[in-house]
Amino acid sequence: MSHAIGAVRFEDGKILYYEYNGTTDVVIDKLYETQDEVLENWRKYPDANCGCGNDEPVRIMSTYGDGFAWDGRACRNCYAITDGFTVDFAWESGTYEDKEPEWSPFKPSSEPDSSSES
Ligand SMILES: [Zn+2]
Repeated sequence: MSHAIGAVRFEDGKILYYEYNGTTDVVIDKLYETQDEVLENWRKYPDANCGCGNDEPVRIMSTYGDGFAWDGRACRNCYAITDGFTVDFAWESGTYEDKEPEWSPFKPSSEPDSSSES
């Protein structure tokens, strides 16, 4: 269980999925429309590069551990994460958040809201 599924959210709310390598704390940069596609390509490390130059700011999240999130960049046309691959980057960028974000598509919808602390 050293890998975990993750997601990125574009500023317009579009969500794409990726595979997170929790052993090396690195994002595998290929993006998919569905979680099923991530699982079908699990540990295959397919090439992903943005050749169009239209990458956008995104919020990246991982479900690894208790979940965490940080800022990065990704291209929805090329299905590639283009910046923010590591937790080190997240720390340095100052955008690291040590919890699963509200927009996480992996949160059970039936979860009672007991989070009173910010
Ligand atoms: Zn691109």
